[in-house]
Amino acid sequence: MLNILASVFCYDIWFYISHILLHTPFLYKFHHEHHMKKFPTFLDTYVGHSLEGPFQGMGALVPFCVYTYSVLDICIVLAILNIRGMMRHDARFVFIIGDHHLLHHCYPKYNFGEPWIDRLCGTMRPLGLEPLALKPLLLNPNK
Ligand SMILES: [Zn+2]
Ligand SMILES: [Zn+2]
Repeated sequence: MLNILASVFCYDIWFYISHILLHTPFLYKFHHEHHMKKFPTFLDTYVGHSLEGPFQGMGALVPFCVYTYSVLDICIVLAILNIRGMMRHDARFVFIIGDHHLLHHCYPKYNFGEPWIDRLCGTMRPLGLEPLALKPLLLNPNK
């Protein structure tokens, strides 16, 4: 159990760092495709350069140096990361997971990772900006 939590924790930290790096002028060419849609759905989760996913996912492997993992443990880690990733790209799941990453697609200078990391590092979207991420849901509530 601790190994699974460690993988998710390390994934989140590296995802934040790698995401900041991908927004630098030098590396943005590998990330701009992911930002083509301002209002993504879960289908857009994996849209991007083929190296982007492996690059951002490497953090989950760091605890493999410390802990042992069964095949089931690895499947659980992959399920958590992929399901959470898809949910945070779709406004229909905002009531479960919030709009933190959806807001990143509207305001790419904020919200690079999990809310606690953005809050800690000062990259949280300031309050008062229009909640554009929810706009498609509000415009088309049947979607
Ligand atoms: Zn995204
Ligand atoms: Zn981004």
